[in-house]
Amino acid sequence: MSDYRIQGATGEWEVVIGLEVHAQISTQAKLFSGAATAFGAEPNTQVSLVDAAMPGMLPVPNMECIRQAVRTGLAINAQINKWSRFDRKNYFYADLPQGYQISQLYHPIVGEGAIEVQLDDKNPESTKTIGIERIHVEQDAGKLMHDQHPTMSYVDLNRSGVALMEIVSRPDMRSPAEAGAYLSKLRTILRYVGSCDGNMDQGSMRADVNVSVRRPGEPFGTRTETKNVNSVRFVMAVVEQEAKRQVALLEDGGKVVQETRLYDPDRNETRSMRSKEDAHDYRYFPDPDLLPVELDDAFVEECRASLPELPDAKRHRYETALGLSAYNAGVLTAEVETSRWFEALLAASAAKQGKPEGEVAKQAANWLTSELFGALNKLGKGLAESPVSPEAGGELLALVGKGTISGSAAKQVLEKMLETGDAPGVIVEREGLTQTSDTGAIEAAVDAVLAANADKVAQYKGGKEALFGFFVGQTMKAMQGKGNPQLVNEVLKAKLA
Ligand code: ADP
Ligand code: MG
Repeated sequence: MSDYRIQGATGEWEVVIGLEVHAQISTQAKLFSGAATAFGAEPNTQVSLVDAAMPGMLPVPNMECIRQAVRTGLAINAQINKWSRFDRKNYFYADLPQGYQISQLYHPIVGEGAIEVQLDDKNPESTKTIGIERIHVEQDAGKLMHDQHPTMSYVDLNRSGVALMEIVSRPDMRSPAEAGAYLSKLRTILRYVGSCDGNMDQGSMRADVNVSVRRPGEPFGTRTETKNVNSVRFVMAVVEQEAKRQVALLEDGGKVVQETRLYDPDRNETRSMRSKEDAHDYRYFPDPDLLPVELDDAFVEECRASLPELPDAKRHRYETALGLSAYNAGVLTAEVETSRWFEALLAASAAKQGKPEGEVAKQAANWLTSELFGALNKLGKGLAESPVSPEAGGELLALVGKGTISGSAAKQVLEKMLETGDAPGVIVEREGLTQTSDTGAIEAAVDAVLAANADKVAQYKGGKEALFGFFVGQTMKAMQGKGNPQLVNEVLKAKLA
Protein backbone atom coordinates (compact mmCIF):
# COMPACT_ATOMS: atom_id res chain seq x y z
CA MET A 1 0.00 0.00 0.00
CA SER A 2 1.33 3.37 -0.97
CA ASP A 3 0.78 6.28 1.37
CA TYR A 4 1.72 8.87 -1.23
CA ARG A 5 -0.73 11.76 -0.97
CA ILE A 6 -1.05 15.18 -2.50
CA GLN A 7 -1.76 17.71 0.22
CA GLY A 8 -4.36 20.14 -1.13
CA ALA A 9 -5.92 23.20 0.52
CA THR A 10 -9.03 21.16 1.36
CA GLY A 11 -7.35 17.89 2.38
CA GLU A 12 -5.54 14.89 0.98
CA TRP A 13 -5.77 13.43 -2.52
CA GLU A 14 -4.70 10.06 -3.86
CA VAL A 15 -3.16 9.63 -7.31
CA VAL A 16 -4.19 6.82 -9.68
CA ILE A 17 -1.90 5.88 -12.57
CA GLY A 18 -2.10 3.49 -15.52
CA LEU A 19 0.61 3.23 -18.18
CA GLU A 20 0.32 2.29 -21.83
CA VAL A 21 3.84 1.41 -22.94
CA HIS A 22 4.83 1.20 -26.59
CA ALA A 23 7.78 -1.15 -26.98
CA GLN A 24 9.43 -1.63 -30.35
CA ILE A 25 9.86 -5.32 -31.05
CA SER A 26 13.51 -6.23 -31.68
CA THR A 27 13.40 -7.69 -35.18
CA GLN A 28 15.36 -7.20 -38.37
CA ALA A 29 12.25 -6.54 -40.48
CA LYS A 30 9.01 -4.60 -39.99
CA LEU A 31 5.66 -6.05 -38.93
CA PHE A 32 4.23 -6.47 -42.44
CA SER A 33 7.19 -5.85 -44.77
CA GLY A 34 10.80 -6.88 -45.25
CA ALA A 35 12.20 -3.34 -44.79
CA ALA A 36 14.95 -2.92 -42.18
CA THR A 37 14.34 -1.44 -38.72
CA ALA A 38 17.87 -0.38 -37.64
CA PHE A 39 18.02 2.86 -35.65
CA GLY A 40 19.74 5.96 -37.03
CA ALA A 41 19.53 5.33 -40.80
CA GLU A 42 19.26 8.22 -43.27
CA PRO A 43 15.62 9.34 -43.62
CA ASN A 44 13.47 7.27 -45.99
CA THR A 45 16.11 4.62 -46.70
CA GLN A 46 14.21 1.82 -44.92
CA VAL A 47 10.83 2.08 -46.60
CA SER A 48 9.26 -0.67 -48.68
CA LEU A 49 6.30 -0.16 -51.00
CA VAL A 50 4.09 -1.61 -48.25
CA ASP A 51 5.36 0.95 -45.69
CA ALA A 52 4.83 3.79 -48.15
CA ALA A 53 1.28 2.44 -48.72
CA MET A 54 1.55 2.23 -52.47
CA PRO A 55 -1.81 1.14 -53.93
CA GLY A 56 -2.29 -2.60 -54.19
CA MET A 57 0.51 -3.56 -51.78
CA LEU A 58 -0.39 -6.35 -49.37
CA PRO A 59 0.85 -6.81 -45.80
CA VAL A 60 2.51 -10.14 -44.90
CA PRO A 61 2.82 -10.77 -41.14
CA ASN A 62 6.34 -11.23 -39.82
CA MET A 63 6.03 -14.30 -37.55
CA GLU A 64 9.07 -13.26 -35.55
CA CYS A 65 7.07 -10.26 -34.26
CA ILE A 66 4.22 -12.55 -33.22
CA ARG A 67 6.71 -14.86 -31.53
CA GLN A 68 8.29 -12.01 -29.56
CA ALA A 69 4.89 -10.76 -28.38
CA VAL A 70 3.97 -14.26 -27.18
CA ARG A 71 7.32 -14.68 -25.41
CA THR A 72 6.76 -11.32 -23.69
CA GLY A 73 3.27 -12.38 -22.65
CA LEU A 74 4.61 -15.59 -21.14
CA ALA A 75 7.29 -13.63 -19.28
CA ILE A 76 4.61 -11.60 -17.47
CA ASN A 77 2.55 -14.74 -16.76
CA ALA A 78 -0.19 -13.56 -19.08
CA GLN A 79 -2.97 -15.34 -20.85
CA ILE A 80 -1.92 -16.08 -24.47
CA ASN A 81 -4.79 -15.76 -26.91
CA LYS A 82 -4.34 -18.46 -29.51
CA TRP A 83 -6.78 -16.64 -31.76
CA SER A 84 -6.20 -12.93 -32.35
CA ARG A 85 -6.92 -10.55 -35.15
CA PHE A 86 -5.70 -7.29 -36.68
CA ASP A 87 -7.98 -4.27 -37.00
CA ARG A 88 -7.65 -1.05 -38.95
CA LYS A 89 -7.65 2.11 -36.86
CA ASN A 90 -8.53 4.85 -39.33
CA TYR A 91 -7.20 8.38 -39.04
CA PHE A 92 -5.48 10.98 -41.17
CA TYR A 93 -2.02 12.19 -40.36
CA ALA A 94 0.84 13.25 -42.63
CA ASP A 95 3.17 10.59 -41.20
CA LEU A 96 0.62 7.82 -41.84
CA PRO A 97 0.38 7.24 -45.61
CA GLN A 98 -2.02 4.28 -45.31
CA GLY A 99 -4.65 6.45 -43.64
CA TYR A 100 -4.99 3.79 -40.97
CA GLN A 101 -2.82 1.97 -38.45
CA ILE A 102 -3.01 -1.82 -38.28
CA SER A 103 -3.54 -2.67 -34.60
CA GLN A 104 -5.49 -5.13 -32.44
CA LEU A 105 -8.41 -3.57 -30.60
CA TYR A 106 -10.94 -6.34 -30.11
CA HIS A 107 -8.77 -9.47 -30.02
CA PRO A 108 -5.27 -8.77 -28.68
CA ILE A 109 -2.68 -11.54 -28.79
CA VAL A 110 -1.94 -11.34 -25.06
CA GLY A 111 -4.53 -10.94 -22.27
CA GLU A 112 -4.28 -10.51 -18.47
CA GLY A 113 -0.88 -10.68 -16.80
CA ALA A 114 1.04 -8.99 -13.99
CA ILE A 115 4.49 -7.96 -12.87
CA GLU A 116 5.88 -7.53 -9.39
CA VAL A 117 7.82 -4.39 -8.54
CA GLN A 118 10.05 -3.69 -5.56
CA LEU A 119 9.71 -0.17 -4.23
CA ASP A 120 12.77 -0.06 -1.98
CA ASP A 121 15.83 -1.83 -3.37
CA LYS A 122 17.12 -2.59 0.13
CA ASN A 123 13.84 -4.09 1.32
CA PRO A 124 12.72 -7.27 -0.46
CA GLU A 125 9.39 -7.07 1.39
CA SER A 126 8.41 -3.79 -0.28
CA THR A 127 6.81 -5.44 -3.29
CA LYS A 128 3.61 -4.68 -5.14
CA THR A 129 1.89 -6.49 -7.99
CA ILE A 130 0.81 -4.33 -10.93
CA GLY A 131 -1.79 -5.83 -13.22
CA ILE A 132 -1.40 -5.82 -16.99
CA GLU A 133 -4.61 -5.75 -18.97
CA ARG A 134 -3.30 -6.77 -22.39
CA ILE A 135 -0.51 -6.64 -24.92
CA HIS A 136 -1.38 -6.07 -28.54
CA VAL A 137 0.80 -5.81 -31.64
CA GLU A 138 0.56 -2.82 -33.97
CA GLN A 139 2.41 -0.72 -36.55
CA ASP A 140 4.38 2.40 -35.73
CA ALA A 141 3.86 5.56 -37.80
CA GLY A 142 6.50 7.68 -39.54
CA LYS A 143 8.02 10.85 -38.14
CA LEU A 144 7.45 14.48 -39.03
CA MET A 145 10.36 16.90 -38.80
CA HIS A 146 9.53 20.58 -38.43
CA ASP A 147 12.87 22.01 -37.42
CA GLN A 148 14.95 21.47 -40.59
CA HIS A 149 13.63 24.45 -42.55
CA PRO A 150 11.71 27.56 -41.45
CA THR A 151 8.75 27.09 -43.79
CA MET A 152 8.67 23.37 -44.54
CA SER A 153 7.92 20.10 -42.80
CA TYR A 154 9.54 16.82 -43.78
CA VAL A 155 8.41 13.27 -43.29
CA ASP A 156 10.66 10.27 -42.58
CA LEU A 157 8.94 6.92 -43.11
CA ASN A 158 11.74 4.73 -41.71
CA ARG A 159 9.63 3.94 -38.65
CA SER A 160 6.46 3.48 -40.66
CA GLY A 161 5.34 -0.14 -40.22
CA VAL A 162 7.86 -1.00 -37.49
CA ALA A 163 6.34 -3.53 -35.06
CA LEU A 164 5.30 -2.30 -31.62
CA MET A 165 3.86 -4.06 -28.61
CA GLU A 166 1.42 -1.90 -26.69
CA ILE A 167 1.54 -3.05 -23.08
CA VAL A 168 -1.45 -1.70 -21.15
CA SER A 169 -1.34 -1.72 -17.35
CA ARG A 170 -4.27 -1.70 -14.96
CA PRO A 171 -4.73 1.59 -13.07
CA ASP A 172 -2.87 -0.02 -10.16
CA MET A 173 -0.13 2.51 -9.42
CA ARG A 174 -0.51 5.12 -6.68
CA SER A 175 2.65 7.25 -6.71
CA PRO A 176 5.40 8.55 -8.99
CA ALA A 177 7.76 5.99 -7.42
CA GLU A 178 5.42 3.11 -8.25
CA ALA A 179 5.07 4.30 -11.85
CA GLY A 180 8.86 4.57 -12.12
CA ALA A 181 9.42 1.14 -10.56
CA TYR A 182 6.87 -0.44 -12.90
CA LEU A 183 8.41 1.05 -16.03
CA SER A 184 11.95 0.06 -14.95
CA LYS A 185 10.88 -3.48 -14.13
CA LEU A 186 9.01 -3.81 -17.42
CA ARG A 187 12.11 -2.62 -19.29
CA THR A 188 14.26 -5.15 -17.39
CA ILE A 189 11.90 -7.98 -18.33
CA LEU A 190 11.78 -6.94 -22.01
CA ARG A 191 15.58 -6.88 -22.12
CA TYR A 192 15.86 -10.31 -20.51
CA VAL A 193 13.34 -11.70 -22.98
CA GLY A 194 15.09 -9.91 -25.84
CA SER A 195 11.80 -8.73 -27.34
CA CYS A 196 12.68 -5.00 -27.05
CA ASP A 197 16.02 -3.30 -26.44
CA GLY A 198 14.37 -0.87 -24.01
CA ASN A 199 16.39 2.11 -25.29
CA MET A 200 14.06 4.93 -24.33
CA ASP A 201 16.37 7.65 -25.67
CA GLN A 202 16.12 6.07 -29.14
CA GLY A 203 12.34 5.83 -28.91
CA SER A 204 12.30 2.02 -28.62
CA MET A 205 10.17 2.35 -25.54
CA ARG A 206 7.80 5.19 -24.63
CA ALA A 207 4.93 5.53 -22.24
CA ASP A 208 1.50 7.16 -22.33
CA VAL A 209 0.87 8.19 -18.75
CA ASN A 210 -2.76 8.11 -17.55
CA VAL A 211 -3.30 10.08 -14.35
CA SER A 212 -6.32 10.89 -12.23
CA VAL A 213 -6.82 11.99 -8.62
CA ARG A 214 -9.46 11.17 -6.02
CA ARG A 215 -10.17 11.47 -2.34
CA PRO A 216 -8.81 8.31 -0.68
CA GLY A 217 -11.47 5.59 -0.87
CA GLU A 218 -13.65 7.39 -3.44
CA PRO A 219 -14.27 6.04 -6.99
CA PHE A 220 -11.73 6.82 -9.72
CA GLY A 221 -11.67 10.36 -11.05
CA THR A 222 -11.45 11.49 -14.68
CA ARG A 223 -8.03 10.83 -16.18
CA THR A 224 -5.78 12.61 -18.63
CA GLU A 225 -3.29 10.84 -20.87
CA THR A 226 0.15 12.37 -21.40
CA LYS A 227 1.63 10.92 -24.58
CA ASN A 228 5.05 9.61 -25.59
CA VAL A 229 7.00 10.16 -22.41
CA ASN A 230 10.51 8.84 -23.05
CA SER A 231 12.29 8.30 -19.74
CA VAL A 232 11.55 6.85 -16.32
CA ARG A 233 12.40 10.17 -14.73
CA PHE A 234 9.98 12.05 -17.02
CA VAL A 235 7.18 9.56 -16.30
CA MET A 236 7.60 10.24 -12.60
CA ALA A 237 7.65 14.00 -13.23
CA VAL A 238 4.49 13.79 -15.36
CA VAL A 239 2.63 11.95 -12.59
CA GLU A 240 3.65 14.53 -10.03
CA GLN A 241 2.93 17.60 -12.16
CA GLU A 242 -0.31 16.28 -13.59
CA ALA A 243 -1.63 15.21 -10.18
CA LYS A 244 -0.84 18.63 -8.70
CA ARG A 245 -2.48 20.38 -11.64
CA GLN A 246 -5.65 18.29 -11.29
CA VAL A 247 -5.83 18.84 -7.53
CA ALA A 248 -5.51 22.62 -7.96
CA LEU A 249 -8.16 22.55 -10.68
CA LEU A 250 -10.62 20.49 -8.61
CA GLU A 251 -10.09 22.50 -5.45
CA ASP A 252 -10.77 25.61 -7.50
CA GLY A 253 -14.19 24.23 -8.37
CA GLY A 254 -13.13 23.14 -11.86
CA LYS A 255 -13.42 19.76 -13.62
CA VAL A 256 -10.75 17.53 -15.14
CA VAL A 257 -11.51 16.96 -18.82
CA GLN A 258 -10.50 13.67 -20.36
CA GLU A 259 -7.88 14.77 -22.84
CA THR A 260 -4.52 14.00 -24.39
CA ARG A 261 -1.61 16.06 -23.10
CA LEU A 262 2.06 16.55 -23.92
CA TYR A 263 4.97 16.85 -21.51
CA ASP A 264 7.48 19.67 -21.89
CA PRO A 265 10.63 18.59 -19.99
CA ASP A 266 12.22 22.05 -20.29
CA ARG A 267 9.38 23.66 -18.36
CA ASN A 268 8.44 20.51 -16.41
CA GLU A 269 4.76 20.90 -17.23
CA THR A 270 2.08 19.12 -19.23
CA ARG A 271 0.02 20.93 -21.87
CA SER A 272 -3.27 20.07 -23.51
CA MET A 273 -2.89 18.60 -27.01
CA ARG A 274 -6.37 17.50 -27.99
CA SER A 275 -9.59 16.35 -26.41
CA LYS A 276 -9.86 12.61 -25.89
CA GLU A 277 -11.10 10.68 -28.91
CA ASP A 278 -13.17 7.53 -28.49
CA ALA A 279 -12.71 4.16 -30.14
CA HIS A 280 -15.69 4.80 -32.43
CA ASP A 281 -14.00 7.89 -33.85
CA TYR A 282 -11.50 5.60 -35.52
CA ARG A 283 -14.05 3.38 -37.28
CA TYR A 284 -12.14 0.24 -36.29
CA PHE A 285 -12.83 -2.82 -38.44
CA PRO A 286 -11.05 -6.14 -39.09
CA ASP A 287 -8.28 -5.68 -41.67
CA PRO A 288 -9.57 -7.51 -44.78
CA ASP A 289 -6.01 -8.03 -46.08
CA LEU A 290 -5.02 -10.18 -43.09
CA LEU A 291 -6.17 -13.55 -41.80
CA PRO A 292 -6.67 -13.98 -38.04
CA VAL A 293 -3.54 -15.10 -36.20
CA GLU A 294 -3.98 -18.69 -35.05
CA LEU A 295 -1.38 -20.24 -32.78
CA ASP A 296 -1.08 -23.89 -31.81
CA ASP A 297 0.15 -25.33 -28.52
CA ALA A 298 3.46 -26.39 -30.01
CA PHE A 299 4.22 -22.80 -31.02
CA VAL A 300 3.36 -21.44 -27.57
CA GLU A 301 5.43 -24.17 -25.91
CA GLU A 302 8.38 -23.41 -28.17
CA CYS A 303 8.09 -19.74 -27.11
CA ARG A 304 7.98 -20.75 -23.45
CA ALA A 305 10.99 -23.05 -23.78
CA SER A 306 12.97 -20.26 -25.44
CA LEU A 307 12.66 -17.93 -22.44
CA PRO A 308 15.78 -17.36 -20.35
CA GLU A 309 15.75 -17.40 -16.55
CA LEU A 310 13.79 -14.22 -15.76
CA PRO A 311 14.82 -11.49 -13.27
CA ASP A 312 12.59 -12.54 -10.34
CA ALA A 313 13.65 -16.20 -10.59
CA LYS A 314 17.29 -15.27 -11.00
CA ARG A 315 17.21 -12.92 -8.06
CA HIS A 316 15.62 -15.59 -5.91
CA ARG A 317 18.25 -18.13 -6.97
CA TYR A 318 21.08 -15.69 -6.21
CA GLU A 319 19.71 -15.26 -2.69
CA THR A 320 18.90 -18.89 -1.93
CA ALA A 321 21.35 -21.05 -3.89
CA LEU A 322 24.26 -18.58 -3.93
CA GLY A 323 23.64 -16.99 -0.53
CA LEU A 324 23.89 -13.39 -1.77
CA SER A 325 22.34 -10.50 0.15
CA ALA A 326 18.98 -9.27 -1.11
CA TYR A 327 20.63 -6.02 -2.11
CA ASN A 328 23.42 -7.63 -4.15
CA ALA A 329 20.97 -10.05 -5.76
CA GLY A 330 18.87 -7.06 -6.80
CA VAL A 331 21.81 -5.08 -8.20
CA LEU A 332 23.23 -8.04 -10.10
CA THR A 333 19.93 -8.98 -11.75
CA ALA A 334 18.66 -5.47 -12.58
CA GLU A 335 20.20 -5.63 -16.06
CA VAL A 336 20.56 -8.83 -18.02
CA GLU A 337 24.12 -7.85 -19.06
CA THR A 338 25.17 -7.44 -15.42
CA SER A 339 23.89 -10.90 -14.51
CA ARG A 340 25.68 -12.42 -17.52
CA TRP A 341 28.93 -10.75 -16.48
CA PHE A 342 28.52 -11.89 -12.90
CA GLU A 343 27.79 -15.47 -13.92
CA ALA A 344 30.88 -15.58 -16.16
CA LEU A 345 32.99 -14.14 -13.32
CA LEU A 346 31.62 -16.66 -10.88
CA ALA A 347 32.23 -19.58 -13.23
CA ALA A 348 35.82 -18.48 -13.85
CA SER A 349 36.55 -17.90 -10.17
CA ALA A 350 35.05 -21.23 -9.08
CA ALA A 351 36.89 -23.17 -11.79
CA LYS A 352 40.24 -21.59 -10.95
CA GLN A 353 39.80 -22.33 -7.25
CA GLY A 354 38.37 -25.79 -7.85
CA LYS A 355 35.41 -24.93 -5.61
CA PRO A 356 31.62 -25.05 -6.08
CA GLU A 357 30.10 -21.71 -7.18
CA GLY A 358 28.07 -21.41 -3.98
CA GLU A 359 31.27 -21.21 -1.93
CA VAL A 360 32.81 -18.33 -3.86
CA ALA A 361 29.67 -16.42 -4.90
CA LYS A 362 29.68 -13.89 -2.05
CA GLN A 363 33.29 -12.98 -2.71
CA ALA A 364 32.54 -12.51 -6.42
CA ALA A 365 29.38 -10.47 -5.76
CA ASN A 366 31.11 -8.18 -3.26
CA TRP A 367 34.10 -7.64 -5.50
CA LEU A 368 31.96 -6.86 -8.54
CA THR A 369 29.50 -4.53 -6.80
CA SER A 370 31.99 -2.61 -4.70
CA GLU A 371 35.50 -2.91 -6.22
CA LEU A 372 34.92 -3.16 -9.97
CA PHE A 373 31.76 -0.99 -10.16
CA GLY A 374 33.54 1.65 -8.05
CA ALA A 375 36.65 1.60 -10.24
CA LEU A 376 34.66 1.72 -13.49
CA ASN A 377 32.56 4.53 -12.12
CA LYS A 378 35.70 6.60 -11.57
CA LEU A 379 36.70 5.93 -15.18
CA GLY A 380 33.21 6.92 -16.36
CA LYS A 381 32.73 3.49 -17.92
CA GLY A 382 29.97 0.92 -17.82
CA LEU A 383 30.45 -2.80 -17.37
CA ALA A 384 30.17 -3.29 -21.15
CA GLU A 385 33.34 -1.19 -21.63
CA SER A 386 35.25 -2.78 -18.76
CA PRO A 387 38.93 -3.30 -19.65
CA VAL A 388 38.83 -6.25 -17.23
CA SER A 389 37.11 -9.39 -18.52
CA PRO A 390 35.08 -11.74 -16.29
CA GLU A 391 37.81 -14.37 -16.79
CA ALA A 392 40.56 -11.99 -15.63
CA GLY A 393 38.38 -10.97 -12.67
CA GLY A 394 37.92 -14.66 -11.81
CA GLU A 395 41.67 -15.16 -11.87
CA LEU A 396 42.15 -12.23 -9.49
CA LEU A 397 39.53 -13.62 -7.10
CA ALA A 398 41.22 -17.01 -7.21
CA LEU A 399 44.55 -15.43 -6.24
CA VAL A 400 42.86 -13.97 -3.15
CA GLY A 401 40.88 -17.12 -2.45
CA LYS A 402 43.99 -19.29 -2.51
CA GLY A 403 45.85 -16.88 -0.23
CA THR A 404 48.44 -15.94 -2.87
CA ILE A 405 47.72 -12.24 -2.41
CA SER A 406 45.94 -10.27 0.32
CA GLY A 407 42.71 -8.35 -0.14
CA SER A 408 44.53 -5.05 -0.08
CA ALA A 409 47.04 -6.24 -2.67
CA ALA A 410 44.06 -7.26 -4.83
CA LYS A 411 42.96 -3.63 -4.91
CA GLN A 412 46.37 -2.60 -6.25
CA VAL A 413 46.29 -5.42 -8.80
CA LEU A 414 42.86 -4.31 -10.04
CA GLU A 415 44.15 -0.78 -10.54
CA LYS A 416 47.03 -2.09 -12.64
CA MET A 417 44.70 -4.39 -14.58
CA LEU A 418 42.54 -1.42 -15.51
CA GLU A 419 45.61 0.61 -16.47
CA THR A 420 47.55 -1.96 -18.46
CA GLY A 421 45.12 -4.74 -19.38
CA ASP A 422 47.69 -7.25 -18.09
CA ALA A 423 46.65 -10.52 -16.46
CA PRO A 424 46.54 -10.47 -12.64
CA GLY A 425 49.15 -13.26 -12.31
CA VAL A 426 51.61 -11.23 -14.41
CA ILE A 427 51.03 -8.11 -12.31
CA VAL A 428 51.47 -9.97 -9.02
CA GLU A 429 54.83 -11.37 -10.25
CA ARG A 430 56.06 -8.08 -11.61
CA GLU A 431 55.11 -6.02 -8.55
CA GLY A 432 56.18 -8.69 -6.06
CA LEU A 433 52.79 -8.71 -4.35
CA THR A 434 52.71 -12.37 -3.37
CA GLN A 435 51.80 -12.59 0.28
CA THR A 436 53.92 -14.44 2.78
CA SER A 437 52.38 -17.49 4.39
CA ASP A 438 55.78 -18.51 5.72
CA THR A 439 55.07 -18.79 9.49
CA GLY A 440 58.75 -18.42 10.32
CA ALA A 441 58.92 -14.99 8.68
CA ILE A 442 55.64 -13.94 10.28
CA GLU A 443 56.75 -15.04 13.73
CA ALA A 444 60.02 -13.12 13.36
CA ALA A 445 58.13 -9.96 12.39
CA VAL A 446 55.65 -10.37 15.27
CA ASP A 447 58.49 -10.91 17.77
CA ALA A 448 60.20 -7.73 16.60
CA VAL A 449 56.99 -5.69 16.88
CA LEU A 450 56.19 -6.98 20.37
CA ALA A 451 59.76 -6.34 21.53
CA ALA A 452 59.71 -2.78 20.24
CA ASN A 453 56.37 -2.07 21.95
CA ALA A 454 56.77 -3.63 25.37
CA ASP A 455 54.70 -0.85 27.02
CA LYS A 456 51.72 -1.51 24.74
CA VAL A 457 52.03 -5.27 25.28
CA ALA A 458 51.73 -4.62 29.01
CA GLN A 459 48.64 -2.41 28.48
CA TYR A 460 47.10 -5.09 26.26
CA LYS A 461 47.65 -7.76 28.84
CA GLY A 462 46.18 -5.35 31.40
CA GLY A 463 42.89 -5.42 29.46
CA LYS A 464 43.26 -2.84 26.67
CA GLU A 465 42.26 -5.30 23.96
CA ALA A 466 41.67 -2.65 21.35
CA LEU A 467 45.46 -2.57 20.92
CA PHE A 468 45.30 -5.84 19.00
CA GLY A 469 44.60 -3.94 15.78
CA PHE A 470 47.67 -1.82 16.41
CA PHE A 471 49.89 -4.93 16.59
CA VAL A 472 48.36 -6.30 13.38
CA GLY A 473 48.98 -2.99 11.64
CA GLN A 474 52.61 -2.79 12.84
CA THR A 475 53.33 -6.36 11.76
CA MET A 476 51.80 -5.81 8.32
CA LYS A 477 53.80 -2.62 7.97
CA ALA A 478 56.99 -4.44 8.91
CA MET A 479 56.21 -7.02 6.24
CA GLN A 480 55.41 -4.38 3.58
CA GLY A 481 51.79 -5.50 3.52
CA LYS A 482 52.68 -8.97 2.35
CA GLY A 483 51.95 -10.97 5.49
CA ASN A 484 48.98 -13.30 5.20
CA PRO A 485 46.54 -11.41 7.47
CA GLN A 486 44.93 -14.53 8.80
CA LEU A 487 48.27 -16.02 9.84
CA VAL A 488 49.42 -12.70 11.29
CA ASN A 489 46.32 -12.70 13.47
CA GLU A 490 46.83 -16.27 14.58
CA VAL A 491 50.50 -15.80 15.45
CA LEU A 492 49.77 -12.57 17.36
CA LYS A 493 46.96 -14.18 19.34
CA ALA A 494 49.23 -17.08 20.29
CA LYS A 495 52.13 -14.85 21.33
CA LEU A 496 49.99 -12.43 23.33
CA ALA A 497 48.03 -15.13 25.12
P1 ADP B 1 -8.06 3.99 -23.89
O1 ADP B 1 -7.75 2.81 -24.75
O2 ADP B 1 -9.21 4.79 -24.31
O3 ADP B 1 -6.86 4.84 -23.65
P2 ADP B 1 -8.23 2.18 -21.57
O4 ADP B 1 -9.44 1.81 -20.81
O5 ADP B 1 -7.62 1.13 -22.38
O6 ADP B 1 -8.56 3.45 -22.43
O7 ADP B 1 -7.20 2.71 -20.51
C1 ADP B 1 -5.97 3.17 -20.88
C2 ADP B 1 -5.08 3.29 -19.66
O8 ADP B 1 -5.63 4.19 -18.71
C3 ADP B 1 -4.84 2.00 -18.92
O9 ADP B 1 -3.45 1.89 -18.65
C4 ADP B 1 -5.62 2.15 -17.63
O10 ADP B 1 -4.98 1.51 -16.57
C5 ADP B 1 -5.59 3.65 -17.42
N1 ADP B 1 -6.72 4.18 -16.67
C6 ADP B 1 -8.02 3.88 -16.83
N2 ADP B 1 -8.78 4.59 -15.97
C7 ADP B 1 -7.95 5.37 -15.25
C8 ADP B 1 -8.12 6.35 -14.22
N3 ADP B 1 -9.34 6.69 -13.76
N4 ADP B 1 -7.01 6.94 -13.73
C9 ADP B 1 -5.80 6.64 -14.18
N5 ADP B 1 -5.57 5.75 -15.16
C10 ADP B 1 -6.62 5.11 -15.70
MG1 MG C 1 -5.02 5.01 -24.66
